[in-house]
Amino acid sequence: RLSERLAAVAAFVGPRAVLADIGSDHAYLPCHLALEGRIQKGIAGEVAKGPYESAVQTVREAGLEGKVLPRLADGLDAVRPEDGVDTVSIAGMGGPLIASILENGRTRLDGVSRLILQPNINAKAVREWGMANGWLITGEQILKEDGKIYEVLVLERGSAAYDEKELLFGPFLMKEKNEAFREKWERERKSWEIILEQMGQSSREEEISLRKEGLKQAINLATEV
Ligand code: SAM
Repeated sequence: RLSERLAAVAAFVGPRAVLADIGSDHAYLPCHLALEGRIQKGIAGEVAKGPYESAVQTVREAGLEGKVLPRLADGLDAVRPEDGVDTVSIAGMGGPLIASILENGRTRLDGVSRLILQPNINAKAVREWGMANGWLITGEQILKEDGKIYEVLVLERGSAAYDEKELLFGPFLMKEKNEAFREKWERERKSWEIILEQMGQSSREEEISLRKEGLKQAINLATEV
């Protein structure tokens, strides 16, 4: 069974998709979807040898050779034009790393119509990359599992102008404001308040005043949302 986090990613994969899961580790996501008959084909891309070998083993044990293809490759280099990939998932990494994988592999995204991204931190970096590169947010999910809060974003081709609040909180998530969302921003706001308090005790006032302003603004945003 998939974790709730990966199940939330899986829920956004369309029927009969050709999926490339980048940073796939054990290849649990593509193997699960292939076993359920929900994808035509899966690619499990991994940059590290150990996780790549885990992916090979999962595929073999599930009898999915030829259906899920593990590839040792950096980011979107795992995707080849002849694969016909239409969906890319990248889960379990920081937002800036996800954005840099997408940026470095832009030319490999030609036939791709949906990106399903699960940043562990800084989802804003992913939304900003999407907005700057012709992708529209078409779905979002936020959930709590084992005490951690995760966001899943779905991007499709299109253009949108998101404001600061939408980029930070997520246009769908800030409308829905579910329990996990409220808890996340309460936690963030508290941690920023602590940082701000500690800064107040420092003597390097000048040096940090800009940063303090930024934190105050973020706290205000998180209070208002
Ligand atoms: N996607 C799985 C999940 O969500 O459970 C695994 C997440 S694991 C924390 C992150 C994986 O991404 C690691 O196995 C790491 O080797 C891989 N990774 C990091 N940077 C990568 C890159 N540029 N290309 C491919 N894989 C990468």
